Amino acid sequence: MNYAIVEQDFKLLDESTLRQIALENQMSYLDLHENMELEKYLNILPLSLIEQYQILCFKEDEESVSIASFKPLEEEVLEKIQNLHRLKIIKIHLCVFTLFQFFLEKVKFLIKFQNYLDRLELHLSKDENQDEILLEQFLELILSYACFLKASDIHLEPLENKALIRYRIDGNLAKILDFDLRSFQALLTHIKIVALLNVAEQRQAQDGSFSKILLEQKYDFRISIMPLLYGQGVVFRILKQDEQQFKLDQLLIAKDRLLRLKTYIKAPYGLVLFCGPTGSGKSTFMHAILNEIDRDKKIITLEDPIEYKLQHAQQILLNSKADFDFHKALRAVLRQDPDVIMVGEIRDEESLDIVLKASLSGHLVLSTLHTNSALEAVYRMKHMGAKEYLIAYSLNLIIAQRLLRKLCECKEASFETFCFQNQTIKGMFYRPKGCAKCMYSGYKGRLMVAEFLFLDQNIKSMIENNSSYEGILQYALENGFVGLGFDALEKAKCGLISIEELKKTSI
Ligand SMILES: [Zn+2]
Repeated sequence: MNYAIVEQDFKLLDESTLRQIALENQMSYLDLHENMELEKYLNILPLSLIEQYQILCFKEDEESVSIASFKPLEEEVLEKIQNLHRLKIIKIHLCVFTLFQFFLEKVKFLIKFQNYLDRLELHLSKDENQDEILLEQFLELILSYACFLKASDIHLEPLENKALIRYRIDGNLAKILDFDLRSFQALLTHIKIVALLNVAEQRQAQDGSFSKILLEQKYDFRISIMPLLYGQGVVFRILKQDEQQFKLDQLLIAKDRLLRLKTYIKAPYGLVLFCGPTGSGKSTFMHAILNEIDRDKKIITLEDPIEYKLQHAQQILLNSKADFDFHKALRAVLRQDPDVIMVGEIRDEESLDIVLKASLSGHLVLSTLHTNSALEAVYRMKHMGAKEYLIAYSLNLIIAQRLLRKLCECKEASFETFCFQNQTIKGMFYRPKGCAKCMYSGYKGRLMVAEFLFLDQNIKSMIENNSSYEGILQYALENGFVGLGFDALEKAKCGLISIEELKKTSI
């Protein structure tokens, strides 16, 4: 065979060109797709061959071995494969490079998992002592693979006869592998050592953290260990220390609201509240706002736990065990002469009272409250015993938010008609499709949708005069307020989210 195309160029070829080349050279074209049972054929080729020649085996039967690559194979490689599978026909399949690369990485990870598990099992059967180096490499593999797949959490779960590893990717849990309980126990002990936890403790929940550089990127891992029926479960929250995610301009906020937001957070004092359920991205948003604040100002944060490290703020870790009580800490912070205070959560009447007074006495305060909508927060605060005039004078802005799955670029446009918040919506929208980049889910990453209730003088006096919820909402809508659902609708119209995700905002 004679190829005029050099290897580098094969990386750029599209599907139709590859199909043509395959046809002319007695090869096939392979469309790598979701249901490929790669796990079944992991051991057909040795890892060294896979890594050196960038090939993977995706099928084997009595007569043939099917090999995939993004380029035709050289004689030397073919010979090596033929030596391993003497009597079989070697079938070569070409794939698009980007797709192939993703699957190749995946296969490499899965083979390494298998290798480590075999070595661990062998070691544990012979030796009482833990091989910490082997365990460290195994743990690093679990963490790296999660980071490669852009997972947000790793779950290690002991079951009756085996242990399970699952990753949360874009909000959904995916099973990665299962392995024996003895290896799990060894791994658990190693994790406790790495996170500086009590190794002997089996009955109490423990929390810890550590940092690591994986795939040339710094990550923080927050660990929670919990006693369960069949052992102790471990959950890692993965926090990528990426400054980019804390840039306001990256959060895809509509332009008019972004401009208004930027002026509101320049206020020397007042309260900015973030509302939404757990996991709605409140803490990312608060950090993005802190990043926007003038570096000359003194910023103090009160958090439990500290999720992201900030370079220009004093961060206080609340520790209920060490008798460093929340209310005491909050009062002490005020004596530290801050300009801006970030309080992780308003937990009760007492903390609400301190937060309101702090925001009236020359501090800009950022905090969170668990309500579904922005305006609800006003009534929640009243319910918690705050006086109307205190709320009216201190509150500057309330934000309610959610995280929705963002469509991958492989999305497909389609004309849709559907009912949304009692309105019939018609127009061009987008549906998830699936490609190697999004692991065939059709979604890639998450996106914030939000409503911003800017409290102008009129809303402040309406709150002070005890106006109804409907009255204030009516006024806000007439003055530019866009509800969460309609922010999501704007984002669905420009193809950022699907209708399926959009509908989650109208619950
Ligand atoms: Zn995709």
